[in-house]
Amino acid sequence: MAALRKAAKKIVQYSGGFGAWHRLRNRECLTVLMFHRVLPLADQTRQGADPEYTVTPELLAAVLRFAGRHYTFIGMDELLAARAHGAPLPAYPLLVTFDDGWRDNLVHARPVLAAQNVPWLLFAAADAIAAPEVWWHEPLEWAVRNGKADLAELWGRAKPETGGAGQDVPGNLLDLLVRFGALSPEHRWAILGPYADELLASAGGRLMLDAAELNDLAKSGTGIGVHGATHLPLTRLADPADDMVRARRWLTANSGTAAGETISFPHGRYDAGTVSAARDAGFRLMFTSDPVLNRCPGGVPASDVLGRVPIAAAAVTDDSGRLAPERLAPWLILRERQ
Ligand SMILES: [Zn+2]
Repeated sequence: MAALRKAAKKIVQYSGGFGAWHRLRNRECLTVLMFHRVLPLADQTRQGADPEYTVTPELLAAVLRFAGRHYTFIGMDELLAARAHGAPLPAYPLLVTFDDGWRDNLVHARPVLAAQNVPWLLFAAADAIAAPEVWWHEPLEWAVRNGKADLAELWGRAKPETGGAGQDVPGNLLDLLVRFGALSPEHRWAILGPYADELLASAGGRLMLDAAELNDLAKSGTGIGVHGATHLPLTRLADPADDMVRARRWLTANSGTAAGETISFPHGRYDAGTVSAARDAGFRLMFTSDPVLNRCPGGVPASDVLGRVPIAAAAVTDDSGRLAPERLAPWLILRERQ
């Protein structure tokens, strides 16, 4: 009983302290949340999902309830209008975003978002949606993450076809993705085909959204933004503008909506060149994965480059996996302002 009282006191003390800080500091500050996958604990595809980027529908609902008490939800259109015409955002604005274009966003996230009437913005990787059944990144990441394949072995098998042998020391998973991205589709699938078959069999079907589903989401009011075509880091592509523009063209043609005004940078990688290429290509808002809050003096975002706070289950839950408000509050509120 004493322990319970102590815990309750701590929560009140914390939420009071953070609440006051939040009210004082974040009135004219945009918070953008970044999610990726939403899967129930019992879902068999969880096994291959990156735990850092996966939340349960229950946790998503709890985070949104918390956000609804302390912030005002805004959608993509309001944010674009604020930047373009100075139409001020409400106090304590918060935007919910999802990256990549996972099918679980439609199945598990949409009902939760709809139940709380929360607008959201989905950044889709065009090649992932366009892929017939499996997008090649999926079996590659899945095989490495589940110990089906050794990173060094895959590295050796993915020797560049042109321009010499390339770097012969295995890099990290991101390096491996870039290396596979440079292969011909035939070479790539000769290596990844068996893993793709196994992944498909264990997942019981497609994991990414398809064009019809994207269209369905766009029609029901979900904002659609660009998350690259290849989903490789734009900083490592010879022609990042081509990747962004190709993605926009495909997403606009296949989502039934103008997907061309917002972009989130794949893997959070960007530099000055990426930003100016995106601006030149006509993107009006660019989203990073830098966990910072965005200043909005007078309700208008000061910059077209916006940071996002990732919601990682491990960072905001207690030992039983339930939302811990005393952890979520500082996670969201005590962020540097950009
Ligand atoms: Zn991504």
